[in-house]
Amino acid sequence: MKVGVLALQGDVREHISALIACGVHPTTIRRTAELDHIDALVIPGGESTTIAQLAEIFGLFAPIKQRIAAGMPVYGSCAGMILLANEITEAKDDQKTFGGLDITVKRNAFGRQVDSFESDISFDDGSTDLIRAVFIRAPWVERVGKGVRVLARVDDHAVAVRSTHLLATSFHPELTADHRIHRYFIDEVAKPALQKVQ
Ligand code: GLN
Repeated sequence: MKVGVLALQGDVREHISALIACGVHPTTIRRTAELDHIDALVIPGGESTTIAQLAEIFGLFAPIKQRIAAGMPVYGSCAGMILLANEITEAKDDQKTFGGLDITVKRNAFGRQVDSFESDISFDDGSTDLIRAVFIRAPWVERVGKGVRVLARVDDHAVAVRSTHLLATSFHPELTADHRIHRYFIDEVAKPALQKVQ
């Protein structure tokens, strides 16, 4: 499986390292031609408005949106979650998203309470072990549509969700040494979704 990391802004390098640790050989994506060579994509944490604007400038916005609509597996962390949401609140004027996940995400939702924090949370992948979750000006999911499953919560707020081919977390597993979320994306989201497409 060829996995790309959208490399316009944000913590690209950390996602690359996490994917390598999972046995994947990721490539960075900055041009439309590069998009043609990947089966799955990771959208890093960073600043969602900046990533969307740069994607537009680099001609990547429409092609990524189309690939997602056509079933390309994508994992988005934090800003990446915002970019996968069909709907956002607290958005900047005219803020656009790739969409694909039928969720409403509130930007900077935890930000008003506390800018950054870490928490050990449970993640619904069949393991009872807690996972260390790093939240940085993080969003949370306010509304979950049909076909979207909540995989983790903090104080009743959904912070990890998935549909058939899309996974999104409010937190940054790429900033920890625990690669469970990346492995979950590869094995439980991307692989089954790609098998279905073939
Ligand atoms: N608050 C940022 C945004 O709206 C996301 C923060 C992050 O990715 N750590 O894009």
